[in-house]
Amino acid sequence: MSESAIFNDVVCCGCSCLCDDLQVTVDAAGKLQTAPGCPQAASYFQPSGAGPDCLIDGSEASLEAGIAASQALLASAKAPLFLGLGELTIDGQRAALDWADRLGAYVDAGNPAEPDPTGMILQSTGMITATLGEIRDRADAILFWNADPAVTHPRFLERFSLDAEGRFLTGPRTSLAIDEAPTATSQRTETFCQAPHSANLEIAHALLALGRGKKIDAARCSLLPQVEAIHAKLSSANYAAIVLGPKFYGSVDGAAIMETLADYVRDLNRTNRAIVSLLRSGPNWIGAAEAIAWRTGYPSPVRFAVDGPAYDPTGYRAAKLLARGQVDAVVRFDGDWLQKAPPEMKTLLEKLPTVSFGWNDAGLPAQVAFRVAKPGVECGGSMHRLDDVPLPLSQLVKTSRPTTEEIIRQAMA
Ligand code: SF4
Repeated sequence: MSESAIFNDVVCCGCSCLCDDLQVTVDAAGKLQTAPGCPQAASYFQPSGAGPDCLIDGSEASLEAGIAASQALLASAKAPLFLGLGELTIDGQRAALDWADRLGAYVDAGNPAEPDPTGMILQSTGMITATLGEIRDRADAILFWNADPAVTHPRFLERFSLDAEGRFLTGPRTSLAIDEAPTATSQRTETFCQAPHSANLEIAHALLALGRGKKIDAARCSLLPQVEAIHAKLSSANYAAIVLGPKFYGSVDGAAIMETLADYVRDLNRTNRAIVSLLRSGPNWIGAAEAIAWRTGYPSPVRFAVDGPAYDPTGYRAAKLLARGQVDAVVRFDGDWLQKAPPEMKTLLEKLPTVSFGWNDAGLPAQVAFRVAKPGVECGGSMHRLDDVPLPLSQLVKTSRPTTEEIIRQAMA
């Protein structure tokens, strides 16, 4: 690029908020600057790292050689595992699922660093949720439960909650937080309940009981006064939004807690409006969950068996398959999740023959490693915001790097 260029209303893939109001300036040297300020956006809007488009066993190789090596590696695998689909655009996810189908692979479309039981909850009890625009415009009470968007989703407060103007609000919002220690977000709320993660199920049950008018024995619920105060505020609001972070739904008993909370929220809807919103890390994990459901009819995780897709919500989770030694090759789509993945999972991943796709050095080995165009910077496509709203990405800088889907389609040709 010989001159600088300015792009407006750019969608940011720095987290699952997918803010669509950024202005990005690309200067003559190809350096990107973003506005308004967000540290995660500034970090995301960088071109892919330097290096060749393909490495085989750590040595530079042509794309064609890499594709041939991937085909050979996966042809000799009996049970490959695909993971990391949340880093891809919807087109990339569709291509990955086509490839997994061809190979008879397992696919865990969830973020291995943040186990998410939503698929099971949607089947068992259902879950009432809303768009971020609805939360912004209507929620007069917002509870952040193990969620600290001031750090993890830096513009969530400004665009969608505490600091945003609500079009249909007639008074100030009530703000609450539950967490094991004060957070940047809880410091902005009026009510804070300090409780360990291990108390979440107890709190959710207490909320459900209070919502159903039951009496609770104070001796059996140490946090009863705080829970009563929270219930009083949520149940007296016209529109209560409960915003959940990964530590809430990703714990060992996350499914039970989510199910109880989903029941409580449904009960609140008898008299007022209440919803749950999950603050997933970015960028496109919700899109991955949807793509797999469109493709197979099941939520993640699935296996493409000979006689059709099979679903096992716990047995096909990547962590379990790896721990049991049930997979013999991996197709890895790299991104932030890999840095945050449990160490024991990384140790197991390191030992398996792997084909990887990413725009930076992932820090984990792969026999065949493709360096691909970065979504929303070097290539377009679409992703789904954390509330399921699809948004188009822009290509801001030119690159000769292929996209993930282009490589996969060539590997399948
Ligand atoms: S909050 Fe997230 S999506 Fe919005 S600008 Fe910051 S990193 Fe990007």
